Amino acid sequence: NIPMQDSGNLTASACSTTRISVLLPMPFAGPFDYRAPADMDLQPGDIVVAPLGKRQETGVVWDATSSLPADLAPPATEKKVDAARLRPVVCRLDLPPLSAELRQFIDWVAAYTLTPPGMVLAMTLRLHMRAAPTPTMGWALAENPDLNALRLTPARQKVLDLLADGNHRTTTDITNATGVSAGVVKGLANAGVLRPVSLGPERPFGHPDAHYNPPVLEGEQQSAAVALRQTVTENRFSVTLLEGVTGSGKTEIYLEAIAECLEQGKQALILLPEIALSAQWMERFSRRFGVQPAVWHSEIGQRARRLTWLGAADGSASVIVGARSALFLPFHNLGLIIVDEEHEALFKQEEGVIYNARDMAVVRGRLARFPVVVVSATPSLETLANVEAGRYRHLVLPTRHGGAELPETRVLDLRDHPPPRGLFLSPELVEDIGATLERQEQVMLFLNRRGYAPLTLCRSCGHRMECPHCTAWLVEHRNRKVLSCHYCDHTEPMPPTCPQCGSDHSLTAIGPGIERITEEARQLFPDARLLVMSSDTLGGPAATAEAVAKISRREVDLIIGTQIVAKGWHFPHLTLVGVVDADLGLSGADLRAGERTIQLLHQVAGRAGRASSPGRVILQSYAPEHPVMQALLSGDFDAFMQQEAAQRKPGFWPPYGRLAALIVSADTPVAADEAAAQLGRTAPYGEGIQVLGPAPAPLAVLRGRHRRRLLLRTHRNIAVQPILRRWLGMVNLNRNAKVDVDIDPVSF
Ligand code: ADP
Ligand code: ZN
Ligand code: ZN
Repeated sequence: NIPMQDSGNLTASACSTTRISVLLPMPFAGPFDYRAPADMDLQPGDIVVAPLGKRQETGVVWDATSSLPADLAPPATEKKVDAARLRPVVCRLDLPPLSAELRQFIDWVAAYTLTPPGMVLAMTLRLHMRAAPTPTMGWALAENPDLNALRLTPARQKVLDLLADGNHRTTTDITNATGVSAGVVKGLANAGVLRPVSLGPERPFGHPDAHYNPPVLEGEQQSAAVALRQTVTENRFSVTLLEGVTGSGKTEIYLEAIAECLEQGKQALILLPEIALSAQWMERFSRRFGVQPAVWHSEIGQRARRLTWLGAADGSASVIVGARSALFLPFHNLGLIIVDEEHEALFKQEEGVIYNARDMAVVRGRLARFPVVVVSATPSLETLANVEAGRYRHLVLPTRHGGAELPETRVLDLRDHPPPRGLFLSPELVEDIGATLERQEQVMLFLNRRGYAPLTLCRSCGHRMECPHCTAWLVEHRNRKVLSCHYCDHTEPMPPTCPQCGSDHSLTAIGPGIERITEEARQLFPDARLLVMSSDTLGGPAATAEAVAKISRREVDLIIGTQIVAKGWHFPHLTLVGVVDADLGLSGADLRAGERTIQLLHQVAGRAGRASSPGRVILQSYAPEHPVMQALLSGDFDAFMQQEAAQRKPGFWPPYGRLAALIVSADTPVAADEAAAQLGRTAPYGEGIQVLGPAPAPLAVLRGRHRRRLLLRTHRNIAVQPILRRWLGMVNLNRNAKVDVDIDPVSF
């Protein structure tokens, strides 16, 4: 075994059997070996086209040796293909190579989440490839084309003559100029006479100016900003929790850290949980820095995606704000990541590569040695535990900016103040809403439930309308006259009679969704200008931005919304927030329910009284004595989280232990049970290792798949990945059964 042959780092002088690894964006266990043609000087990170069966795929030249720590590194794969049988790489694309840091990050995320590395690479690559339609790619003459082997037809000659001037042209340019067909161009490309090039990227990104419009900071803000700037100038890995009540100026402070990063000539990335809802954020950014940042999320167009990808790679996009997948952009010189609203469950991607963008942001910072700042008014227990253990620094802004008071909170006991029959707003709350509207102040009603009613029940026979594919009730959407499942795509028209017993007029809506609350509010306050904010009423980012602008312009009196309203909006005229069902989310067995509910309700409450008029919050509840309600009343978030910690520590639940969920799914309940039992029989054991289940998964049937769950829980000092790899390697499941591994599940 000649070491040179295994190295991906070869010079052109190496012979034509140079072996290189290429990682393809597909679910294979690892990179494949290829041969680098003699005239191609390939380095790890280069983006290449390689043959795969009869197809050609875009991939990346990968490192020959893994940089992973032993407990994460997957076992070595099968032996190498004979050098003589290696297929050559087709060509190298004229795109910026992926840095060693990014490659290392991709390997790390793959190993941590137990996903094939190609699937993680796909997040970096496919987004771009999909984003770069052929017209933006062009052709140039290859450097040393082998013309002897080429059958030189007149059409081919025309193309070669055209490109002889050295300019790069798209296929369309070439066919227009020469009159040849696109097939001729393709033929020349396949023969290696033309090489693909990306046509000179536009530079659409303005340059954020760190000194454009700096804020005047107050005492506590000032010292927090200095400390945060300091972490950036240190120029090494650290994690800081920036904690502060809603309206304390956290955004203002972390924009200072970005300013520092820009002064250092580095790029900054800001992760927001729901970038589509960030119109106000963009506005604030440009007020501070004079230009808009580059944006990355699933709803930007292909052109914008391509430009942002290239802007990240060549450094011309110096600040990028994005949703979780922005973490996989090929930054040229990343110097800072901010994770805003770090407690948000939306940072967890639940499909494909199952990862938490907050945690992986910290990993990227550690691997590339730069600071990470996580921001929240209600930090997750994970983050607080890291602060407590001394792993994270802690900066606190204890008061609201400009002396604004935190809203006064009241829990309205619905047992003492019940709403009228069939309605959902208590007379106490209604009275308060009326008085607030009278004073020309805005009111917001919050209910985290889309549609008209969560359950439709037959009064004659008790039949419940359920999704045929999921263990879930169908939700009535009265505006659209349909019943729809919120877990799959199933939608059906509202039946005129009960499908079970055939009774007329017996189907009844049970419980409220926001459409129903809107109906009630319309009847109570016919003169109020209503605005409903939910994913059903706000089609996309533009509609959301317009709704928010309307609220700011005081063209709305009463806002009714789902969790969309709980985001970091600044509504200066809003003084009363009513939470229709504060208990929602507390039922069920999930250990994290309390933490999640308090984070959500605190965030909703934080929308009130952000300017000069004080705000009030009314929580309608049937369980006012619940610790969540008590904590919201006292405002003592710390004490609540300490209670949560005390509950989780003894059983080494996260964050005091490690947890992985195995979701076993199959077409039939029997097959699901069988597969789950098989996993149960081979479950790992040992000190500090425990397996819970199998049990029905939280959604026992989803999209027609029957699901069981096992939980692997270990002490903090025991990594779950090697245990899982061994365990899953032992079982031989029936073909239609599938296991999805979720490391650090959000609910447990
Ligand atoms: P948070 O992110 O903690 O909720 P923000 O940064 O959104 O707080 O600040 C709340 C409001 O107060 C925003 O409108 C912000 O522009 C304003 N604000 C905060 N600090 C200052 C400051 N030092 N000078 C001017 N306005 C400020
Ligand atoms: Zn019936
Ligand atoms: Zn369904």
